[in-house]
Amino acid sequence: MYEFNYHRPGSVDEAVGLISEDAKILAGGQSLLPTMKLRLAQPSDMIDLAGIPGLSDISVDGSTVTIGATATHASVAASSAVAGAIPALAKLASGIGDAQVRNMGTMGGSVANADPAADYPAALVGLGATVHTNSRTVAADDFFTGIFETDLAENEIVTKVSFPVPQAAAYVKFANPASRYAIVGVFVAKTADGVRVAVTGAGGSVFRASDMEAALNGNFSASSLDGIAVASDDLNSDLHASADYRAHLVSVMAKRAVQAAGG
Ligand SMILES: Cc1cc2nc3c(=O)[nH]c(=O)nc-3n(C[C@H](O)[C@H](O)[C@H](O)COP(=O)(O)OP(=O)(O)OC[C@H]3O[C@@H](n4cnc5c(N)ncnc54)[C@H](O)[C@@H]3O)c2cc1C
Repeated sequence: MYEFNYHRPGSVDEAVGLISEDAKILAGGQSLLPTMKLRLAQPSDMIDLAGIPGLSDISVDGSTVTIGATATHASVAASSAVAGAIPALAKLASGIGDAQVRNMGTMGGSVANADPAADYPAALVGLGATVHTNSRTVAADDFFTGIFETDLAENEIVTKVSFPVPQAAAYVKFANPASRYAIVGVFVAKTADGVRVAVTGAGGSVFRASDMEAALNGNFSASSLDGIAVASDDLNSDLHASADYRAHLVSVMAKRAVQAAGG
């Protein structure tokens, strides 16, 4: 591990003030520290968000679930308030990685990292969530812009994510048996504004399956998805699964998610 300066700011403003070209925000460290161990990152300064009061708060106000940036996956999974309002979100969190990863990894770290195989991006886009930063709010649909890429500016910190409570929702993933990352994961939500279907793991970034959404808006039933598939042209192909197999998995996971959501 390289040497670096360690900072533990007491507020978001103080953390933002410490950001420089070679500095890195540190949350749970579950993605950043392996990157540093592999010598793929060498930050001069680490800005640890763990000491900022209130940043890990989880609240439910009836129609909105709000999860602070440093809330761990384990705390989301264990929250009875989240489980009561959006059970699919608590269940998704309980299926991330292993117990060690869930105890350290955070909501903000996961969404800022934007791993194409991560689970939370599917929930954000599937539920039509809003990402809050120190300076603005961004709709989830506009937040994830590519492989490990987001709309965040260099001097921006994710502070929380707010999720509208859907009428029904479910997330089903075909997990890598070693890491539990999604080879393909599909989040389906029935909302007042229509059905949303978000796919992670299959492409370079989370995406919505609009043909599936249209079919499910007509009839919220797994059989509505018969014969509807995503094109494999732009999907990932690697040692875990070919693009064609991932396209097949999207249809299977989507049907299972609709069934799990009551359709
Ligand atoms: C073995 C293993 C298995 C895993 N399995 C899964 C899985 O099944 N599903 C899944 O979704 N994920 C999985 N993960 C990833 C895990 O969820 C991480 O917690 C997550 O990717 C990063 O969160 P973190 O809090 O650890 O962030 P860190 O590693 O601390 O940071 C990640 C990146 O985000 C930036 N960052 C962190 N917080 C903020 C913030 N608030 N604002 C702006 N930038 C920020 C950092 O600077 C860094 O670039 C796995 C990880 C491991 C090691």
